[in-house]
Amino acid sequence: MKIGLVRCETAMRSCPGTACFAAIKNRTGSFSEFAGDDIDIIGMISCGGCPGRDAPRQVKEMIRRGAEVIFICTCLIKPIPHPPKCAYVDEIADAISALGVRVVMGTH
Ligand code: SF4
Repeated sequence: MKIGLVRCETAMRSCPGTACFAAIKNRTGSFSEFAGDDIDIIGMISCGGCPGRDAPRQVKEMIRRGAEVIFICTCLIKPIPHPPKCAYVDEIADAISALGVRVVMGTH
């Protein structure tokens, strides 16, 4: 399965993505559903900064390159690695869904 990840621009300044990559490798968190699947990571993009308008444009490119499922990283849906939680996550996820790709909320 080919996947893409969308992360928070602010969070990426302090988070190297280790927990996301560990969840992919170990098939934990949101990846437990895909325990029997090979996973190819097409890309890991940032939202581009508030209000996240770069995300759909970059996801479109990941879809063009084969991404079948897009994961909204946990940094958008919980206040980690630091608050506040993203105020735009629902509209970012809706805009990505509108591209016709499956969206999964959260990673680890
Ligand atoms: S829009 Fe959300 S995900 Fe993007 S930088 Fe702002 S808080 Fe982070």
